[in-house]
Amino acid sequence: MKKAQAAPAAFAELGIEPPLLRALAKIGFVEPSEIQKQLIPVVLSGRDALGQARTGTGKTAAFGLSCMQMVNRDMGLQLLVLVPTRELAVQVAAELLRLSEFLGLRIVPVYGGQRIKSQLHSLGKKPCVVVGTPGRLIDLLERGALSLGDVRFVVLDEVDRMLDIGFRDDIRLILGKITSPHQTVFVSATLSDEIKRLAGQFTRDAVEVNVSRDEITVEEVTQVFIGVEPWDKFRLLQMVLEREQPKLAIVFCNTKRGVMKLAKRLHVEGIDAREIHGDLVQSKRERVMERFRKHNLHVLVATDLASRGIDVHGITHIVNYDIPVDPEAYVHRIGRTARMGSFGKAITFVTREQGKLLTEVEKLINLQITEERLENFVPGSPPRGELGGFSPPPGRRPRGPARASPVSAAEPPSVPGGTAPAQSASPSQRPKTLGAKFRSRRRRL
Ligand code: AMP
Repeated sequence: MKKAQAAPAAFAELGIEPPLLRALAKIGFVEPSEIQKQLIPVVLSGRDALGQARTGTGKTAAFGLSCMQMVNRDMGLQLLVLVPTRELAVQVAAELLRLSEFLGLRIVPVYGGQRIKSQLHSLGKKPCVVVGTPGRLIDLLERGALSLGDVRFVVLDEVDRMLDIGFRDDIRLILGKITSPHQTVFVSATLSDEIKRLAGQFTRDAVEVNVSRDEITVEEVTQVFIGVEPWDKFRLLQMVLEREQPKLAIVFCNTKRGVMKLAKRLHVEGIDAREIHGDLVQSKRERVMERFRKHNLHVLVATDLASRGIDVHGITHIVNYDIPVDPEAYVHRIGRTARMGSFGKAITFVTREQGKLLTEVEKLINLQITEERLENFVPGSPPRGELGGFSPPPGRRPRGPARASPVSAAEPPSVPGGTAPAQSASPSQRPKTLGAKFRSRRRRL
């Protein structure tokens, strides 16, 4: 006979009741995460909340357990969760479903890209919880397929993301339609003044719960950058993949075109990589994510579509093939690894023109990212027309904790924003003055 799992007492102490405790025991959550410890009692007390926590720290269960506990399974739609992307709608709905297994709640995800007919059918069964992207929710509201008249809990997940992909008016429209008395919970990895202003319009006397402290990236992620010339990036990626042998890796590019080109090239080279970006039809996006989630695919090439909220266990490597232009995107990208206490490595490719972007990231995360050099990597010649007047910028010595991989630990400093070509890379040609000098120089690049 199967041994019954013990109810997790620490969750019971937060006020979580037996049906949810049973599910937690079954899933194997024993200790609540920090955001769960702090947010659950606030929501259960009936207050609005504004929660800030790093991505991957258990926010879904934090709002999910507390709100779902107060939902009545016989009363129609009471909990509405707004999320920015389709993938997140599917993922959050699945997490809520397994947490509420013994409450028996009907939960429906609604999002664009999937035929509206099947979603209309699911909504017809009167779910108590709907998780949706703003665009599709508005569509359904306009068709009269969804009524928000009985909603008692509204959660906005990844609000910062929703704002930067321009959902502000949609959010206003949706929230404006909820006229019944309700509790509102905002959750986000960052809480800018803008988010607080928006929250101020839609919450009443919200309790701010901030568990992200000063450091916004997780310690368990080893972060390194590799200087590279643009024309060498693909070869470098091949070498990195060969050397690191990632169990699961996401390689981020800044554009859809970049993703498509890179995935194709990897494929040609015999690396089983698949792409994910906004131009891919939804069914294909789901298939790719499913393979990745099941570890049947080891390299995912992605735009920032995959940088937020996507929770896949066991991602060991993040490669920023293109360093993001927005430093906050860096935080979200690397948050895909080292989730809930596991370890991961983030490798960022930086060309000489991108030194400033790297500095912006370092300023945001308040940490100097260590440079890593690949011993066997011989920089190639620039394609014709790109050579003009090359002179290597000065080097740097890693100042942060010695977290770089063994190959870099004994290396002399190389150049910022670009691995110097072989003819200019001898230690004697590298400047002796490092640190601050390096930084100011890099800003001018
Ligand atoms: P989230 O931040 O909601 O995307 O959660 C990140 C991951 O942590 C998900 O895989 C959750 O299932 C998992 N998780 C959430 N809470 C806990 C917990 N208390 N103990 C262990 N794992 C958890």
